[in-house]
Amino acid sequence: MTQQPTVEPDTSDCADGSLVSPPSSDAYDARTVAVRAGRLYNDTALAPVLWGSSAYVADSFDQARQFAGDVAEPKFYGRNSNPTVSNFEHAMAELEGAEASRAFASGMGAVSAVVLALCSSGDHVVAQSQIYSHTQLFLQAVCPRFGIDATFVDGADPEAFEAAVIPGKTTLVIAESPANPKLTLVDLESFGAIKGPITVVDSTLATPIVQRPLEYGVDLVVHSATKAIAGHNDAILGVVSGSDELIAWIRGFAILQGAVASPFDALNGLRGIRTLPIRVQQQADTALALATMLESHPAVRAVFYPGLESHPQYELAQRQLDLPGGLVTFDLAGGLEAGVGLINRLQLVQRATSLGGPETLVTHPASTTHVGLLPDELAAVGIEGGTIRISCGLEHADDLIADLTRALAPLV
Ligand SMILES: *Cc1c(COP(=O)(O)O)cnc(C)c1O
Repeated sequence: MTQQPTVEPDTSDCADGSLVSPPSSDAYDARTVAVRAGRLYNDTALAPVLWGSSAYVADSFDQARQFAGDVAEPKFYGRNSNPTVSNFEHAMAELEGAEASRAFASGMGAVSAVVLALCSSGDHVVAQSQIYSHTQLFLQAVCPRFGIDATFVDGADPEAFEAAVIPGKTTLVIAESPANPKLTLVDLESFGAIKGPITVVDSTLATPIVQRPLEYGVDLVVHSATKAIAGHNDAILGVVSGSDELIAWIRGFAILQGAVASPFDALNGLRGIRTLPIRVQQQADTALALATMLESHPAVRAVFYPGLESHPQYELAQRQLDLPGGLVTFDLAGGLEAGVGLINRLQLVQRATSLGGPETLVTHPASTTHVGLLPDELAAVGIEGGTIRISCGLEHADDLIADLTRALAPLV
C-alpha cells in the first residue's frame, strides 16, 4: 500500500502554536485553482458528482423553512440551486476572483437575466456594436418592449461607453472583449472605471485564464460556458460572476426566469474547468501559428489576432490578456466567392458554429453567427463576404496549417 502524502502544517509564524489557515486560492496559480475548485458537494469522489435530484429531504420543519428562505441553498429545490451546479458556480467564482456566481441554461440565459434582473422600464443600456449577435438582438428587439432602450457604441474607443451614459437613466453598460469575430478589445481599465451604471463584460472569448475583468473594477463578468469552459462541445451553459449582493439579486430573478443550468451541463462545465488552462494555452499557441501563416499568405488580405503585432490594439492586448486566445479571423482578398470555396475545400477543419472545443472549426460570420444583421450593421463591425473565423482546437498545428494551405492554394 502506498502512503498518502501528508502536508506538514506551517506553524512558524504562529506564536500560540495554532495552525495557520490553508493558503487562500489567491496563493495558487490558475492551473491549480482549476483542478482544486468546486469540490464542496463531492463527498469523497475525485471527479465531479452528478446530483440529478430535483428536491431534497429536510431533517425537520425548521430545516425545511430555513432552506426555503435561502435562495442559494443547493439541497432544497433544483430551480433554486443544485449541488453539482453549485460546485460549478464555486469554481467559476474562484477563477474569476468573484464573491459569487450563478449558472444558467445557456450564455444567453445569463445575458438576458443580467439585463432583465437589473433594468426596469425607463432604463437605458449602453452596449458595444461589436457584441454577440443574439445579445444585440435581445437589446434591440426584446428590451424595447419592456421600455428598456439601448445605445450601441464602438467598443474599441475607450471614451465611447462613458460618453453614451445618460446620468440617472443608464443602469447597465455592456462590453464584450475580445469581441467576435474581429477580436477587437475593450480597454478594461477605463471600462471598469465607469461610475454610476453597473458594468458587465462578456468574457467568453477570453475565459478567466486569459483575463479577469473584475480585477479592473468591472461589476459583472458573463460567459457562455458552452464554449471553452465546458470545452468539449457537450454542454449548453452560461454563468455570471460578481459581488454577493449583485449575484443574489440576479439569482432571485433567475429562480423566477427558470433558465436554470442542468446538473449534467454543469458537470461537464466543471469537468472542462479541470483542463481549461492547458487547453487554452495550446489553442493560443496553435492560433498564433495559424495567424502567422495566414498573414504571409497572398490570398489573405488581413488577419485579426491579438497576438500579432499587426493587431490595431496589440499594446492593449499585451497589457490585458495573459494569452491571445484561440480564435483567428481573416479577410480573403477574393471576397465571398473565395470564402465559399475555402470553406468547402477544408478537410480537417470542420464547418460548425461554435468555439473553444477540441475540434478546429471554421465559421463564415456573415452567413451564420451574424446572419440576422443588416448590411450597414455588418459593415460597422467589419464583417465582409470574405471574412472567415477559425476556432482553434487541439489538433496538431502542422496538420491544421497543411489543411488550410491546401484549401487556400486555388485562390492565388
Ligand atoms: C456563444 C456566445 C454567447 C451565447 O452563449 P450560448 O451558450 O450559446 O447561449 C454569448 N456571448 C458570446 C461571446 C458567445 O460566443
